[in-house]
Amino acid sequence: MTEKLYDNDSYLSEFNCKVIDLYSDEAKIYIETDRTAFFPEGGGQTSDRGWLNNIYVENVQIIDGRILHFVENSEENVKKLQKGMSICGKIDLKKRFSDMQQHSGEHIFSGIVNSLFGFNNVGFHLGTEIVTLDFDGVLNEADICKVENLVNKAIWDNLEIKILFPDKAELENIKYRSKIEIEGQIRLVEIPGIDMCACCAPHVKRTGEIGIVEVVNFEKYKGGTRVSILCGERALFDIRHKLNENRRVSVLTCAKQGETAAAVERLKNENEKLKYDIVGLNRNILMSKAESIGEQNRIIIFDEMLQGKLLSDFTISLMPKAMEFVAAFCGENGSYRYCIASNNVNLRPLSKSLNEAFSGRGGGKPEIIQGSLSGNEDEIRGFLKTYCTE
Ligand SMILES: [Zn+2]
Repeated sequence: MTEKLYDNDSYLSEFNCKVIDLYSDEAKIYIETDRTAFFPEGGGQTSDRGWLNNIYVENVQIIDGRILHFVENSEENVKKLQKGMSICGKIDLKKRFSDMQQHSGEHIFSGIVNSLFGFNNVGFHLGTEIVTLDFDGVLNEADICKVENLVNKAIWDNLEIKILFPDKAELENIKYRSKIEIEGQIRLVEIPGIDMCACCAPHVKRTGEIGIVEVVNFEKYKGGTRVSILCGERALFDIRHKLNENRRVSVLTCAKQGETAAAVERLKNENEKLKYDIVGLNRNILMSKAESIGEQNRIIIFDEMLQGKLLSDFTISLMPKAMEFVAAFCGENGSYRYCIASNNVNLRPLSKSLNEAFSGRGGGKPEIIQGSLSGNEDEIRGFLKTYCTE
């Protein structure tokens, strides 16, 4: 049984240990040691990374009750490792500290949600980026704001986080949160006045080390609420990135940094109006173009201005001038939307042939067909000019 050095000292980054077993498969060597400071993956949190005798440990897992350190199976690594040898371990303290900031922040958040609303944390994921917490009750924006304020208040109060190993008798008098029934010795993480929770992960010593907790998002999830948070350095980087984005929007819109949303909304509205105006102008241009077209057997038009509903309106307006049919196309790079209309010809067979010839989709009534296809303009024109309508 490996001694878990992280149980009592979250900040221990270097340690000596003995290899008590090791085995390998094609990809990895799995190393079991008599003691370790590496926190294995579990409870929604990724494992520590680091080094055993300068060999990179990429993952640590509990498999069949054994803590196994995963390293790459290479000739060089095989030579360096033997059962029974003493080695030194070193964990990536930067990742560990970031994980501790997130995890301790999560306990405060979940503890406050539990005491204010009675909801339980029923899902927790601490990845390399975002941290998600799932609660079995619905939290609205005001609730989230209130919790976020109180969590940060608990951080500024710089409370001592205590690790307890109560015996059975002591445990009976302690109220604590726990996701699962735990057999054997229970490890409790206490944040005085805020939370008491069964947990085996490393935590910061004082809440002040968390720095800040930022709620990045919240959404309804499985009848409850999924809250995404970031703590400490991750929150700092996230807020900095978003401030930089906002600064750019502020410069681009000539709006104050605190008033960018209104400026973007104004631009969006202006843009929509301009688009509407352009459609109106295009319609006028296209309709006068339609007027200038004389009577023909087959009218075939390619025009990029035939956007949206203009395509069918334009086509229909030309119907009286086409003895056989009028075909209009809008698109670019060989990809077109089409509308074909006729007062005299059943267009359904044409639709089928056209779709077959140009990998098209679409259809319609005998007098009007619409769809999309791929091909080049000359080939499409050629096809339509020589198509037999009889
Ligand atoms: Zn925990």
